[in-house]
Amino acid sequence: MTAKIIDGNALSRLLRAEVTARVTALKARGITPGLAVVLVGDNAASQVYVRNKVKACEDTGMHSVLERWPATMTEEALLERVAALNNDAGIHGILVQLPLPAHIDAQKVIEAISPAKDVDGFHIASAGALMTGMPGFWPCTPYGCMKMLESIGYELKGKHAVVIGRSNIVGKPMALMLLQQNATVTICHSGTANLKAMTLQADVVVAAVGKRNVLTADMVKPGAVVIDVGMNRNDEGKLCGDVDFDGVKEVAGWITPVPGGVGPMTITMLMVNTLESAERLL
Ligand code: NAP
Repeated sequence: MTAKIIDGNALSRLLRAEVTARVTALKARGITPGLAVVLVGDNAASQVYVRNKVKACEDTGMHSVLERWPATMTEEALLERVAALNNDAGIHGILVQLPLPAHIDAQKVIEAISPAKDVDGFHIASAGALMTGMPGFWPCTPYGCMKMLESIGYELKGKHAVVIGRSNIVGKPMALMLLQQNATVTICHSGTANLKAMTLQADVVVAAVGKRNVLTADMVKPGAVVIDVGMNRNDEGKLCGDVDFDGVKEVAGWITPVPGGVGPMTITMLMVNTLESAERLL
């Protein structure tokens, strides 16, 4: 069997076109959705991410502000900037790019963002809302994975989903979203005794680890949906996921590629969250 590809670039184009139309409608009513992206320091990967986020805002007609601060910025100064953005009526979403320099307490900064503008979905209030099924912003990466499942018309009720990874930004919220859609969910992590025994039972596997070849063909049930969140570099320095794509695509029913899978969806869902934050003002 050769798996069908869930194309994150194509789905993103579709969703971003919808976002653009909604932004246009909102502007006609006097509101321009605005995203503030705050970058502290000069981490090379972070610079690429923030540039892509700002570009996505421009492409969809949103307003964006990119604040770049030196790595020497104090925690107090950053908290002051966050407070100012919380009070800025033209800003509907605030994103502080992680990682932050070691002398800044990232959790403290995230908690300083108003939950009403927490479009990354990392605030404890957003996490609590997801856990209890209340309205709130969902973290963009797992939200994008859910949109990918939705795009293939996949019914999660009654299915067994295995999430590999339990981070606060991907694994745990992913598991909660799958649970909310009535999947039976297993969460695996570095302490899982027999990962293969778990994944072989899975109708859906989401790999969010950050290590190449965590999921190989012998670990996948024929026909399963495989979503690869991982972003790693192979020996040639090329971007690759956690999944052995070439092997697993011969067993799975559906698979997301890296690049061109979950990555573009993450930024798309950031646009969706920012737009919806602004729409709440209507
Ligand atoms: P993380 O915080 O490092 O979490 C990794 C998780 O994997 C941890 O829960 C860890 O378990 C688990 N793990 C490590 N080795 C394992 C193993 N051998 N078997 C099973 N589980 C194992 O990483 P993250 O922030 O969630 O990100 C995960 C990956 O997704 C990274 O490659 C990251 O770059 C990528 N990512 C991509 C996007 C995107 O837009 N495409 C967005 C975010 C993240 P413990 O908890 O026991 O340590």
